[in-house]
Amino acid sequence: MNITPSIPDLMEAKALMALRQDLAAAFRICHRFGWSESVGNHFSAAVSASGKQFLLNPRWQHFATIKASDLLLLDADDPDVMTGANAPDPSAWTVHGTLHRMLPEARVILHCHSPHAVALSCLKDPTLLPLDNNTARFFGRIGYDLEFGGIADAQEEGERLARMIKGKSVLVMGNHGVTIAGETVADAFEDLYFFEKAAQTMVLALSTGKPLAILSDEIAQATSDGWIPYRGMAERHFDYLKSCLDREDMSWRD
Ligand SMILES: [Zn+2]
Repeated sequence: MNITPSIPDLMEAKALMALRQDLAAAFRICHRFGWSESVGNHFSAAVSASGKQFLLNPRWQHFATIKASDLLLLDADDPDVMTGANAPDPSAWTVHGTLHRMLPEARVILHCHSPHAVALSCLKDPTLLPLDNNTARFFGRIGYDLEFGGIADAQEEGERLARMIKGKSVLVMGNHGVTIAGETVADAFEDLYFFEKAAQTMVLALSTGKPLAILSDEIAQATSDGWIPYRGMAERHFDYLKSCLDREDMSWRD
């Protein structure tokens, strides 16, 4: 159980618990979809307007076991975060902390190595082409970071990633994976879901070796805009996925 620090502009307790539960559910669902990786990867959610206070998964806790109360509530201005007994993963702390601080509008940040997103990120040109409804959903909404440098300096990496994802919803991280920024956990998870499907479509289409029927920019933009009235799908889908978790094990809510 994480000890909650006293943070002045923190959201009220009920909303905070709901956010904790949604983020915990996102970890469990991510694992069920086969997108978790050992005990790595990180999701976070800002809990203050400045983004300086945020929830993050504990270091090396498997996604399948995460409960709402397990999530660390971290304060970027607290110098003791990394010396505490429950210290987070240092690079996740720095990268997610930098992203939330530089992009307070990015309320939820999901980073994982879902297989088709990783395959796309490993192409020399990982641009997601508009080929169908799902790929065109992301037209104009993706930033690309092709500066993969292994496990680099986390501060510099966080600042670079923040610049690349600013004004976008998705960051394709070359030779690495994907990061999604969204307003709510449901919104961000829906983009992660559709991005993985879109990357799968592109990788499968490329695997045929036949020429691709790429949509024009005008049709791609109209298709992307056409998704906007369907935004409510995200919450309905996420509610359904949470109900699937509940049928087997409700511990994520604790
Ligand atoms: Zn990663």
